[in-house]
Amino acid sequence: MAASKVLSGARVVLPTGVVENGRVIVDGTSIAGSAPADAVALDLSGHWVVPGFVDMHNHGGGGASFSNGTVEDVLKGVHTHRLHGTTTLVASTVTGEMDVLAQRAGLLSELVEQGDLAGIHFEGPFISPCRKGAHSEGLLRHPDPAEVRKLLDAARGTAKMVTLATELPGGLDSVRLLAEHGVIAAIGHTDASYEQTVEAIDAGATVATHLFNAMPALGHREPGPIAALLEDERITVELINDGTHLHPAALELAFHHKGADRVAFITDAMDAAGFGDGLYHLGPLEVEVKEGVARLVEGGSIAGSTLTLDRAFKRSVTVDGLSVEDTVRALSANPARLLGLDDTVGSLEPGKDADLVVLDADFAVKGVLRKGSWVVEPELG
Ligand SMILES: [Zn+2]
Repeated sequence: MAASKVLSGARVVLPTGVVENGRVIVDGTSIAGSAPADAVALDLSGHWVVPGFVDMHNHGGGGASFSNGTVEDVLKGVHTHRLHGTTTLVASTVTGEMDVLAQRAGLLSELVEQGDLAGIHFEGPFISPCRKGAHSEGLLRHPDPAEVRKLLDAARGTAKMVTLATELPGGLDSVRLLAEHGVIAAIGHTDASYEQTVEAIDAGATVATHLFNAMPALGHREPGPIAALLEDERITVELINDGTHLHPAALELAFHHKGADRVAFITDAMDAAGFGDGLYHLGPLEVEVKEGVARLVEGGSIAGSTLTLDRAFKRSVTVDGLSVEDTVRALSANPARLLGLDDTVGSLEPGKDADLVVLDADFAVKGVLRKGSWVVEPELG
């Protein structure tokens, strides 16, 4: 049982804004409104306390991939991201054979039921060969609703999101099926036109998978998916804020159009996140990581990132010039709401899980608390 704690003296980011010299009370695994008598006091002067980060698109880390490997491997990846402040993580798969994916969903769903993962995101195989990125072309297929259904069944209610190229045959029916089952239909790895994207949004798609990446560029005669995804308020856009996937001006454009409540920072991380350069696999494909940038050995496509969300946080405030409050929305509140988890995570409010990150004045992680227990215990003084 986690001991009760009173964290005081920090700049605390609440849904209502930043509170100077704020206080967060942790009773057991939850945030509480008042302090129990036996609570341990912790002075966090000079630090920030922000909600734990929620990553809705993440393929692995710490040398481990969520698409293959054992339960222990998956947990190692999850733990690596926890050390960097991600207290809620949806595991993403990459394109594979349907029966391999279904099997994988079985394994990952057990970890969701255990509380180690927050859900499963299927990225592929229902994506466009024109925008395949780091997915195996030979294994891509059209989004047949019956096959989408098979993956949902294999995930036993733990599927949170499916990324698909909605312009392909069966795409719109698949979007409708996902929406009916309360699973996010995410438009991505797509070659859709502007008009086709509008149709997919009308059919029920609500997320843009890593906006700008793996889709046609914005053009003045052919605005393509980006214009449709930016202008429609039903869409939340994922952004990989690592300085490699996006120019800062592209990020600013997205915030300008979407507002701070319709942007979610993701890592799209692969095995090398929190681990180091070297040779890796992304599903069946070989990836080389050099200076933190992951590229396919064959063809050189960018193959996911080595980002952790603490770096996305720091970059957002110190390079992109976003406020700490807006950064917290993009890293915690927005993805939590999208995933339907905002009754327990995504903000610092009494009754919610005691998931929080302690950052120093330079936005480096000094502490990570998950469900009331320290993953990284602050060393102060
Ligand atoms: Zn991905």
